[in-house]
Amino acid sequence: MKSKEKSNVYKGIAAAPGIAIKPAYLFKKDIEIINNESIADIEEAISSFNEALEKSKNELAKVFSLAVDKLGEKRAALFEAQIMILDDPILIEKIVSRIAEEKMNPEFIVNDEISKYQDLMISSHEPYMKERSQDIEDIKNRIIRNIRKKKWKSRITEEVIVVSESLTPADTVLFSRMKVAGYITNFGGLTSHAAIVARSLDVPAVVGVHDATENIDDDDILIIDGFNGIVIVNPTEEQLNEYKDKLEKLHQLDKELAKLKDKKAITKDGKVINIFANLDLSEELEIIIQNGAEGIGLMRTEQIFQEYESFPSEEQQTKVYTEFAEKLYPLPLTIRAFDIGGDKVLPVDVQEPNPMLGWRGIRFLLDNKELFRSQIRAVLRASKHKNVKFMIPMISSFSEIIRANEIIRECKSELTEEKIIFDNQIEIGIMIEVPSAALLIKDFAAEVDFFSIGTNDLIQYMLAVDRGNDIVNSQYQEFHPAIIRTLDFIIKEANKAGTRVTLCGEMAADFRAIPLLVGLGLDSISVSGAVIPYAKSIIRNLDYSQINEFVADCLKCKTEHEIHEKVNKFYFSNFGDSSHEFYSN
Ligand code: PEP
Ligand code: MG
Repeated sequence: MKSKEKSNVYKGIAAAPGIAIKPAYLFKKDIEIINNESIADIEEAISSFNEALEKSKNELAKVFSLAVDKLGEKRAALFEAQIMILDDPILIEKIVSRIAEEKMNPEFIVNDEISKYQDLMISSHEPYMKERSQDIEDIKNRIIRNIRKKKWKSRITEEVIVVSESLTPADTVLFSRMKVAGYITNFGGLTSHAAIVARSLDVPAVVGVHDATENIDDDDILIIDGFNGIVIVNPTEEQLNEYKDKLEKLHQLDKELAKLKDKKAITKDGKVINIFANLDLSEELEIIIQNGAEGIGLMRTEQIFQEYESFPSEEQQTKVYTEFAEKLYPLPLTIRAFDIGGDKVLPVDVQEPNPMLGWRGIRFLLDNKELFRSQIRAVLRASKHKNVKFMIPMISSFSEIIRANEIIRECKSELTEEKIIFDNQIEIGIMIEVPSAALLIKDFAAEVDFFSIGTNDLIQYMLAVDRGNDIVNSQYQEFHPAIIRTLDFIIKEANKAGTRVTLCGEMAADFRAIPLLVGLGLDSISVSGAVIPYAKSIIRNLDYSQINEFVADCLKCKTEHEIHEKVNKFYFSNFGDSSHEFYSN
């Protein structure tokens, strides 16, 4: 950015493209410092506590009614339970009497008293109780904020840019139902799930802006530039005009791209690339269909846990998958088996020292066979119109495929016996996202119908770099020579074996990577819904016959830097179109 020296410009990782100019909303989960001073006026302290209590109840009632509309009764019940705690006469009396007796600041007493409840829950052996202790934390913080007369800014009706230390996927999901114009976080990497969800919902995001929450106050006017990973706080007139101009151009570009909806992604010399969509949340289906996806290449099913707060039953899953398959019909729906663990949810009470290398994906499923079977049966039951495929994550060895296939076969025979209709020819695929799987691709090809390359994890495991850790973000290199050569190997081996191969990692959403991926021989990719029009426009401007030399050059490079330069040069010299003016390098 040309104005780097200006102190109101902060740099982070460009996690989801787009530009927004909106006020800041600081999303703080914890109250760090509790005021433990004694007080002189007991009456005033008690009335301040009572006021804060009333205010908290009103706020929660508002959140509850919104939650019922947006999230459904089941998830909204959480907020109702919080209101009930605020109505608990024993707790309230205890707090009031302690304020009077101990003459301590009410926020100190509230913190101390409610923390006791919390400690009890944390020490429980019930995972459910442990989880609920986080809700108690929310209640505690809400009352304390209100005692401090800080308005609890659940400003769910205004458009804001959320600024937070970090965001869990659940936070992002919740915000996605509100009017959020952008996300800025202190921590998190490009393929952290909050970033993926932001991209899917077409909301700009900049992550890894280390001191964002310290340097941004509520209601500061922010410019978020998700193309370049830039955040501008309280912009000058000049900065504001520059970005208003860019925003206007972006709207124009979006209108232009919308015209591609029903057009194919076909290169100038006639090679057709199929573009599928990744789906994380049910809300995205509309954007995906609107943007002309040719189906869903990756449905992450872990989101269902957030809907049901526990393992969903076979019936519940059948309902969800059938609804998606029917809405998409005749387009295909690729359902991925639960990728539980790692950076995603693990709804069981296990603390792993190294979750990324732990009980994750297929490993967890094979150890929890009943859960796996309930999902397989549900997927099969949803396949009756023959537009469903099933995909297994985190395969690292041959025996996992054999065991998974065996369970799938068992489920098929059960359904046949039960006279339930399903697609007996349903395609079964695996994710190629662990280096060992990449090497064994030839052997795997005989056992599966398709491969889908998961670059988010493949890069993480090949380069030994945590995908969600911004500290090592510069080492998370999608253009690392080992990555490019491995992709080349996987695609060639799969083609030789005659097994279809696609790529559903976030690399396919990087506009500059698309020519290289197409040149490596992929004939389909799966990307976030919002990216589809951009991807189409790039492919439609490509000359397939001219990419060969560029790809061969990239495969010879010894460093990421060299490949990066070649990729940038190719992109900027071939796509002098309007999308490139939003990128500053
Ligand atoms: C991947 O690893 O590239 C992928 C698509 O799966 P996820 O991001 O859900 O781990
Ligand atoms: Mg993965």
